[in-house]
Amino acid sequence: MQSAKKILILGGGFAGISVLRQLESSFKNNEDIQITLVNEDNFFLFTPMLPELASGMIRPSAISIPLRMVCKKTEFIQAKVSSIDLKSKLVAITRPFDGMVKVLSYDYLVIAMGGTTNFFGNKKIEKHAFTIKTIQDAIGIKTHLIHMLEIADTEKNPALQEKLLTVVVVGAGFAGVETIGELNDFVRDSVKSYYHNINPENIKMILVSANGVILPELGEELGKKAYESLQKAGIRIIPNTKAVDAGEDFVFLGNGETIPCETMIWTAGVTMDSVIADLDCEHKSGKIVVDKYLKLANNDTVFALGDCAAITDTKTGGLYPPTAQHALRQSKIVSHNLKAMIFGRTNLKPFNFESKGMMAIIGKRDGIAKISGHSLTGMSAWLIWKTYYLMMLPTFEKKLKVATDWTVNSLFTRDITLVRKIKRKSVNHLDGIESLDQVLFRSETQAKTN
Ligand SMILES: Cc1cc2nc3c(=O)[nH]c(=O)nc-3n(C[C@H](O)[C@H](O)[C@H](O)COP(=O)(O)OP(=O)(O)OC[C@H]3O[C@@H](n4cnc5c(N)ncnc54)[C@H](O)[C@@H]3O)c2cc1C
Repeated sequence: MQSAKKILILGGGFAGISVLRQLESSFKNNEDIQITLVNEDNFFLFTPMLPELASGMIRPSAISIPLRMVCKKTEFIQAKVSSIDLKSKLVAITRPFDGMVKVLSYDYLVIAMGGTTNFFGNKKIEKHAFTIKTIQDAIGIKTHLIHMLEIADTEKNPALQEKLLTVVVVGAGFAGVETIGELNDFVRDSVKSYYHNINPENIKMILVSANGVILPELGEELGKKAYESLQKAGIRIIPNTKAVDAGEDFVFLGNGETIPCETMIWTAGVTMDSVIADLDCEHKSGKIVVDKYLKLANNDTVFALGDCAAITDTKTGGLYPPTAQHALRQSKIVSHNLKAMIFGRTNLKPFNFESKGMMAIIGKRDGIAKISGHSLTGMSAWLIWKTYYLMMLPTFEKKLKVATDWTVNSLFTRDITLVRKIKRKSVNHLDGIESLDQVLFRSETQAKTN
């Protein structure tokens, strides 16, 4: 090899760090290869456990791994990718601290920037909904819910108390189902242990699904089982319905129903960052279209994988689903093919993957799983989920932290410490209904004036 080859990886999520690890192990002692990783945050986030962070079952540091910990030979740069020029082989990045722009050149590019939340252009929903994509999102949801519990405990108007304790999750994929399951347990357990002025009947947990089934990835039979389990746990599911509007304290559904609520969580869609959407290449659903070798067609130096890549499943004709499991599998093909390109070999491998299993946790000691064609439900599926994801979590230290949190938090009552203040609207109104305290205060004031 003449001069050092530069490999640039954009995105330090499941796909990016998995490619990085494989390349690092192959090029450990090879000075002719320089690898650079660019990511917005300085850590990798283990997203499947985000709902448990929102419910306080685990602490934030347990599921965030500093990227410098995985970069042994790689140079890490914390920055936002602001544009990619495929013709000149240049990538512009912006430093978050002061907005300073830097341009990086590459010989080989790996694009693994995932996706962002899709509100389908609905600005009102975007303004009023919580999302669950980042650590801040999950902490924000937990903080907000504890505030709602504190206020609801002092509220005597039942309609207002119910509004404070209504949580609407929109979207019934993995993120939506696991989030509603976790929050349902969190709110009900907390009320039982601490909030004795709250009538448990005023807790309303609602899952809104655009389809007739939930968790479509797991098939109809398991989706039905998950549906029944959630209902048994006290969750109302509204199928075949979309959320079409929202305000500070309501969600309006396509079926004409208005739900008064202080908490709406949006998990209903994924879209692409403008850097991906504007890239000068073929797109499908906003994602980068790659060939079966996971590289751009007619471009042997640019690979894309994970949630930002549109990869056709030749068996079904559809796209492979955006899951962590698929991103990890794709990383093996990308690292193999990238090495083949560097060494001028022609033995490229095509991506072909049939998932051996899918699973989800849907509540306390309850889960569903489909493994090698076998369906499992309840405690066994829940245990398999816990074991599998614990094993997937990078580093022994993080595994130990998560295992400790699970053990400690299942032995004791929920932690409702409010470590943050929220700056948010007044919740003392309900479509014209005043709280009892407001009515009393008004009567007292009037009596004094008279
Ligand atoms: C709440 C939740 C629960 C989930 N549960 C499961 C589950 O149980 N099982 C499962 O298989 N999948 C699950 N998923 C889906 C899974 O998280 C994704 O499929 C997976 O993360 C995709 O990996 P990726 O590397 O493509 O993207 P990501 O993991 O999202 O990584 C993308 C990275 O790129 C970075 N990035 C993005 N834009 C820029 C930019 N402009 N500049 C710099 N950096 C940038 C991001 O910060 C991020 O680090 C869940 C997702 C969520 C949100």
